[in-house]
Amino acid sequence: MLEINLDDYVLTPERERSWREAMKKRAAEIIIRDFTEMVAAMDEAEEERLRDLPYCDFLETRYWHVLRRYACLKHGDHCDRCPRTVTLQVHHLIYAHVGSEYRYLEDLTVLCDRCHAAEHGR
Ligand SMILES: [Zn+2]
Ligand SMILES: [Zn+2]
Repeated sequence: MLEINLDDYVLTPERERSWREAMKKRAAEIIIRDFTEMVAAMDEAEEERLRDLPYCDFLETRYWHVLRRYACLKHGDHCDRCPRTVTLQVHHLIYAHVGSEYRYLEDLTVLCDRCHAAEHGR
């Protein structure tokens, strides 16, 4: 008879780490896939539509959602000014390319909420 060994299901630190790493890798794959698909679908008309949106509406678009996740991934999922890895926000260093940031990723930086507030003098 086949024996079931419950030790095979114990969550050891090694198993937890490899599970976390697998999840992190999967999340990164999805972010890269979404970004690649979004870039492939972009054109001048879409860039213009995004540029003309009120900034608060722009921040609600799928474009910005995909782009900000990609920017965080590219910046190593931590703040560019301090070691924090939580409450990350994407900050525009310049606003010259709103709607076409995907072609000017150097315009963007990743800051935690504290460093971001300090950047805007809040
Ligand atoms: Zn910070
Ligand atoms: Zn900002």
